[in-house]
Amino acid sequence: MVATATIAPPKLTDQKMLIDGKFVDARSGKTFETINPATGDTICQIAEGDQADVDLAVQAARRALESKAWRNMAASHRGRLLYKLADLIEANAQELAALETLDNGKPINDSLHVDLPLIAAVYRYYAGWSDKIHGKTIPVTGPFIAYTRHEPVGVVGQIIPWNFPALMQAWKWGPALACGCTVVLKPAEQTPLTALRIGQLAMEAGFPEGVVNVVPGFGPTAGGAIARHGDIDKVAFTGSTVVGREIMKSAAETNLKRVSLELGGKSPNIIFADSDVEKAAKFAYNALFFNMGQCCCAGSRLLVEEKVHDEVVEILKTLAGKQQLGDPFDTKTTQGPQVSEEQFKTVLGYIEKGRQEGARCVTGGNKLDRAGYFVEPTVFDNVSDDMTIAREEIFGPVLSVMTFSGADEAIRRGNNSDYGLAAAVWTRDINKANRLAAGLKAGTVWINCYNVFDAAVPFGGFKMSGFGRELGEYALSSYTEVKAVVTALGK
Ligand code: ADP
Repeated sequence: MVATATIAPPKLTDQKMLIDGKFVDARSGKTFETINPATGDTICQIAEGDQADVDLAVQAARRALESKAWRNMAASHRGRLLYKLADLIEANAQELAALETLDNGKPINDSLHVDLPLIAAVYRYYAGWSDKIHGKTIPVTGPFIAYTRHEPVGVVGQIIPWNFPALMQAWKWGPALACGCTVVLKPAEQTPLTALRIGQLAMEAGFPEGVVNVVPGFGPTAGGAIARHGDIDKVAFTGSTVVGREIMKSAAETNLKRVSLELGGKSPNIIFADSDVEKAAKFAYNALFFNMGQCCCAGSRLLVEEKVHDEVVEILKTLAGKQQLGDPFDTKTTQGPQVSEEQFKTVLGYIEKGRQEGARCVTGGNKLDRAGYFVEPTVFDNVSDDMTIAREEIFGPVLSVMTFSGADEAIRRGNNSDYGLAAAVWTRDINKANRLAAGLKAGTVWINCYNVFDAAVPFGGFKMSGFGRELGEYALSSYTEVKAVVTALGK
């Protein structure tokens, strides 16, 4: 990794919300504070959106959807605007990385060298799709010709989480804008800063007013207003399974808006004795501890074949000992704080539960004695499938190690979860690898790798990890309606 030049935490003034191309206060005049998780200090005040602001944003998005400026814009031109946005994001990468690190707590090296390049890549990928979204000509019986049009689904509400704020915005905006939709985005209340700045960059790139709107606020108020809104055609949500269920209910009880959900996970990472065990163990460490364990696809259930269990646990312990916890703006830091006091307490609660239920804590298990929401990288061994830490998504730096023997057990135990977001298999036996890939019920299966993301590869869940796919060509179907047109030929 390229060494990062020192980037200082930016100083910010209070932030307004983006509606109809303008930065405005909340109708209520209310604001909320966004907190620096590394210190617990307030960064600045943010305009607090609610029903009235969502209404205005939806009206602006509807007007934009029906405006000549957007509806009649050449698809290739939409693509050019997305390319421009990607260029502006790249040109302002240091500033955006600093905002992300300040608001979320992730190490600056990660913000700058992991998140930001992926963000630009996602916008560019969908820029390329903009003028390649089209239907089919279908041969039919009789004197008719039939074709399909892939039309924008309309005004889209998008609700995103705090773990990869700007990246989740890119996953949502890229395909929606390529398809010609207009957007009302609600960033997570913990991390609104990059969404607002990228909203500003979108205006600079030349998106017509109202095409993108950013309404920060809390889940039940601003988020609920989006989910319930009668003039939103589709809601795309990334977050917890509990809230995903609420979103579906709201959609069902109002206008049957389309819903796509990317929810939680409890992903099995399966290491066979015939793998490159050292490499597998190193990746298993990163599979869980990357981003302070705050990844929906975190490899939180590490299933290790009995014979290599001790070797893997030793490597995990060694790596945990090398983790540099501290100021996320320090380029030597590899682990920052959890995103919020609430998450910090939740994670510590799970650690306590792991101990009470009889798992063996082999390393970590404590908070740091300093300001901010820091939790030691924690590895539990002797975890059984029924323990709380093996069943529930922790979203923190807590890894559960379990043992198994043979491929059948690996598949059965791997699938022993309500979730089905991701899974990984480590083996040198290609037949075994492919058997596991077919047998595991997960939206992504990594073979001899983990956390490999690409704008072109779809991502999403089986079972209670949600439905609909983000990224790749598959995401386009979430933002288009298929219209069949049948024309009579001759008389
Ligand atoms: P987490 O528990 O990881 O914070 P959530 O699912 O609570 O995940 O939050 C993800 C996003 O969903 C955030 O933007 C949050 O504000 C929003 N949200 C939370 N509750 C609701 C709700 N009842 N309706 C709509 N959005 C919500």
